[in-house]
Amino acid sequence: MKFVADTMLGRLARWLRLLGFDVLYPETADDKELLRFADERIILTRDKELGKKENVLLIKSVRIDEQLRQVVDELNLNISSPLSRCSVCNQILVEEDKKSVRNLVPERIYTNHDTFWGCPGCNRIYWKGSHYDKIIGIISQFKNK
Ligand SMILES: [Zn+2]
Repeated sequence: MKFVADTMLGRLARWLRLLGFDVLYPETADDKELLRFADERIILTRDKELGKKENVLLIKSVRIDEQLRQVVDELNLNISSPLSRCSVCNQILVEEDKKSVRNLVPERIYTNHDTFWGCPGCNRIYWKGSHYDKIIGIISQFKNK
């Protein structure tokens, strides 16, 4: 299932990407531009008018945890590949050879980790740091319900 999020839902877009979903976030798109995606993506919006259209999910809450819960429950999402996607630019991450990231991450990180992922879109490097455990913890709450 693919999504496009309206300008009010930047955090939700990032979190859905962390859950592994393909989410576009065209920051300046108006309703008309968003609706062009409706054939291939579910539109996520806080706009009541837009929410009445076909293939649009009206997000009820302003709280990120409730927003995420609504999307996962109402669309019955199967979270099968969390943390497989860049939360910043939506690209699928690629596992990197350790040596190739030597100059791209802090020395301490390089020494303490063996597995790294790179984003082909924005070139960010990811590893399983303290942030990772926290995010996995949050994601598991959404999986178990
Ligand atoms: Zn990226």
